[in-house]
Parts: sequence; C-alpha cells; structure tokens
Amino acid sequence: GRRPGRVARVDRGVCTVLCADGPVRATLGGAVLAAAARDLTRLPCAGDWVLLGAWPDGNVTVEAVLPRRTALIRRTAGKDASGQVLAANLDAAAVVEPVHPEPDTGRIERLLSLAHDSGARPLVVLTKADLAADPEAVARQLAAVAPGVPVLAVSAERGTGLEPLRAEVAPGRTLGLLGPSGAGKSSLVNALAGAAVMPTQAIRRVDGKGRHTTTWRALIPVPGGGAVLDTPGVRAVGLLDGSAGLDRAFADIAELAAGCRYGDCGHDGEPACAVREALDSGELPVRRWESWRRLQRELAHESGRRETRL
Ligand code: GDP
Ligand code: ZN
Repeated sequence: GRRPGRVARVDRGVCTVLCADGPVRATLGGAVLAAAARDLTRLPCAGDWVLLGAWPDGNVTVEAVLPRRTALIRRTAGKDASGQVLAANLDAAAVVEPVHPEPDTGRIERLLSLAHDSGARPLVVLTKADLAADPEAVARQLAAVAPGVPVLAVSAERGTGLEPLRAEVAPGRTLGLLGPSGAGKSSLVNALAGAAVMPTQAIRRVDGKGRHTTTWRALIPVPGGGAVLDTPGVRAVGLLDGSAGLDRAFADIAELAAGCRYGDCGHDGEPACAVREALDSGELPVRRWESWRRLQRELAHESGRRETRL
C-alpha cells in the first residue's frame, strides 16, 4: 500500500518525507520523473503532500505528488521554463525584511506580488525590531506599500511581536518565510519552533558551510502546532506571466485607476486621469508609481531579463 507523508526537504533528488512514524528518505518514482520531464513544477518540493511506495529491495519512492492548495513559484530563466516551485501548501506567506538599517521597499513589493500569486495569505514581517528606535512607526509607513496586508514588527532576539505569527503556525497551518539571506529567517524559525533547529548566519559562518546551508529549504514542524517553511534559497525572483499577484500587491493603484475617465487609461496624460491626479496631489508617492511601472514593464518584456537579484 501507499502511505502519505509531507516533504520536509529535497536534496539532489532525495526527499525527506515526514510520515506518521517519523522521517523517511525517498527517491523519485517513475511516474513523478515522467511528469517532471514535461513540467518541472511537478517535481516534489518542501511542503508537498506525497504518496510513498515501498519496494522489496528496501527502496522508498515518491509515487505521487498530491494536488497543491497553494504554490510559491519562482520563474526560472530560459525560453520555455515553467518555473520552480519553492514551497507548496503554505497557508500564509510572510515577506521577511529587516527593519534595520532600512527596509528595502522595492524588494517587499516584488516578493509580495509573488506571495499574492501563491494563493497563501500574504504578510509582511519586519525583523530585528530591537535595533530600530520606533519599529511600529516603520510598520505603519510600510502599510502603504502593502495594501490589505498585515505588517508586523518582530524581534526574534527579544521574543517580541511573535504572537500573530504563532497563530500562523497553529496546528494544521503552515507559514512560509520569504526574504533575503540575513533577514533573520532562521532566527525566526528557531523562535517559533522554540529550539535552535535552523543554523543562523552566525553559526553558518563559523562552520564554513554558509554557502551550502543557505540553499536548503526546509519544512520544520512546530511542537504542538503546524509548521514553518524557510526559503533561504530565494536569491532572485522573476515575476510570473500575467501576474494577478502584481495587481493585488498594488491594489491601491488598481483602485485609483478604476476612477480614471477612460477604462483603458494609460495614465500618461489622458484627461481626467485619477492616477495622475493622485500623483500631483502627493496621495500616490512617485516612488510607488515608478515601482509599479517597473514591475509591469518586466512582465511585458518577457524576453528580457526575468530575474532580479534580491
Ligand atoms: P537568515 O539568513 O534570513 O536565516 O538570517 P539569520 O536568522 O541567520 O540572521 C542573520 C543575522 O541577524 C544573525 O547574525 C542574527 O543573529 C541576526 N538577527 C536575527 N534576528 C535578529 C533580531 O531579532 N535582532 C537582532 N538584533 N539580530 C537578529
Ligand atoms: Zn489614468
């Protein structure tokens, strides 16, 4: 018989799968390999629910990847690339950014559109709140670039502000962390798991494996609760085609555009353009507008550079 499990990590084609009786190492079965040959997104990834088959020779294989409820997909470069699934079945996807010295607004906007695309509930988590004079003020400012998305300020070091995140790792729920290396994701995982399960940057540097350990993505069960999934490998992300996530990440601009006189307004000198009016009055910051235009252009220029380093 086949037994179900959840993929905790994938390392060179070998999956570590969490089953009811503990972790199992499994290679990819024939049906999974055949599906992946046609479409790379069919490869199992951290967070996937799978069915395992056991063979008389002792081998265990992933025989099926069950349909995903949500999927965080990074577009891979190249002509027919379908993209790479970074994390599956997240309930919430947190864009993690250090509040100190200064959060990178453009990066938050880009990752938020990815988070929106995933189907999971997007969040913004500002880390290292203990290093900022007034982290709550920064969180309030950033609310403008994250319309409809909660912005939290937390300190893994002090253990403050973590309560809303604990709700995201309640039993049956999975929280994904998305952000650059050094943002404090591993520290956050450890704070939520209540133990040093992830090596943080300081430790990675000491054991000289920084490069290697930063590339693994892992699903970590939270004792008495759900799970948290770190995605430290996200170095560069490309936007998806026809990204609905981009529209949601810039819901403020979409809302303004709905007030333009012409439905197909290009916001480029047309009469009665609500977007231009908002720019002139300062209601819509120029930086925000330019950020939107840049990401739109990136989507339009398919053949151009798809990935941007974070
Ligand atoms: P990752 O690369 O995103 O996993 O980041 P790490 O968790 O390894 O953290 C990067 C660095 O930031 C490490 O030196 C941590 O000690 C530090 N750091 C992480 N969280 C906090 C925090 O809440 N406060 C302070 N002051 N430093 C933190
Ligand atoms: Zn307009």
